[in-house]
Amino acid sequence: MTCLSYLVVTVFEVPRSVAYGEMPMHLTLWLTMNVLVSFVVFGSRQGAGLNLLSLGVMLVALVVRGPLAAAQLSDWVTASVVMGVTGVIAYILMTFIENNLLQHAQDSEKLRAARQDAVTDVYGRGAIEEELTHAMEHARKTNSPLSIVVTDIDHFKSVNDRYGHAFGDDVLRAVGKRLRRNVGGIGGMVGRWGGEEFIVLLPGLAKPDALVLAERLRREVGETPLAGLDVTASFGVASYRGSGDTADQLFGRADMAMYEAKRSGRNAVR
Ligand code: GH3
Ligand code: MG
Ligand code: MG
Repeated sequence: MTCLSYLVVTVFEVPRSVAYGEMPMHLTLWLTMNVLVSFVVFGSRQGAGLNLLSLGVMLVALVVRGPLAAAQLSDWVTASVVMGVTGVIAYILMTFIENNLLQHAQDSEKLRAARQDAVTDVYGRGAIEEELTHAMEHARKTNSPLSIVVTDIDHFKSVNDRYGHAFGDDVLRAVGKRLRRNVGGIGGMVGRWGGEEFIVLLPGLAKPDALVLAERLRREVGETPLAGLDVTASFGVASYRGSGDTADQLFGRADMAMYEAKRSGRNAVR
């Protein structure tokens, strides 16, 4: 729409008015509005290009037409100056807005990258600890349930020993992806606690539901090959017990349950 408006005013209206020698008021307003809208629609660079082109067409048409009466010339100069000044102001404003948006996007990206585990793309240790603290505060305030699942890949050392560290990283990524895929829809969060150990936060889920979900995660990890390899993991579930409970205690119980699962033969939920 803006493009069409530009085309009409630059190709038809400006040369036509130049031919008559007059600069009608509506054309000045139209040109000025085009300048403003074009910067908003096309951004600072393309907006500036388009407006310089339009101004250029106007000046060339004036030169080609030849001498004008003093009053007419003064109208055209006024219109050119208004367009030029509007363009410069719009350019400065637009550049300022674009730089701010860019800075904001870069800051958000940096923040996101800092919170993410570099290998697996799930939350890193610091971020997931922060999320756990927030989730506990929320559970305490709203008196709502909260469960966590701690999971550790079984015999992961032998995966590394046999296939190499890079392949081990592929397996870690695949585990992270499967965990995330299964809890993302219910507001769950996945983090890497360290090594081949992950934690899943399940706000709003009480123990029985969390056990069912952990069983589903166990099957998801163990039943189809990960990065082309049969891998299993052991899972421990624990739930928030009310205002006296701390994050360390909650994690400790889930970790203990996970070790029970290991002792019971691995590839299990406790
Ligand atoms: P278990 O079933 O008892 O958990 O046995 P496991 O072999 O999984 O446990 P163990 O603690 O003996 O070994 C964990 C291995 O995880 C050892 C280490 O090399 C590997 N590991 C830790 N972090 C990474 C990582 O970032 N990438 C890769 N590829 N391996 C890692
Ligand atoms: Mg392990
Ligand atoms: Mg481990």
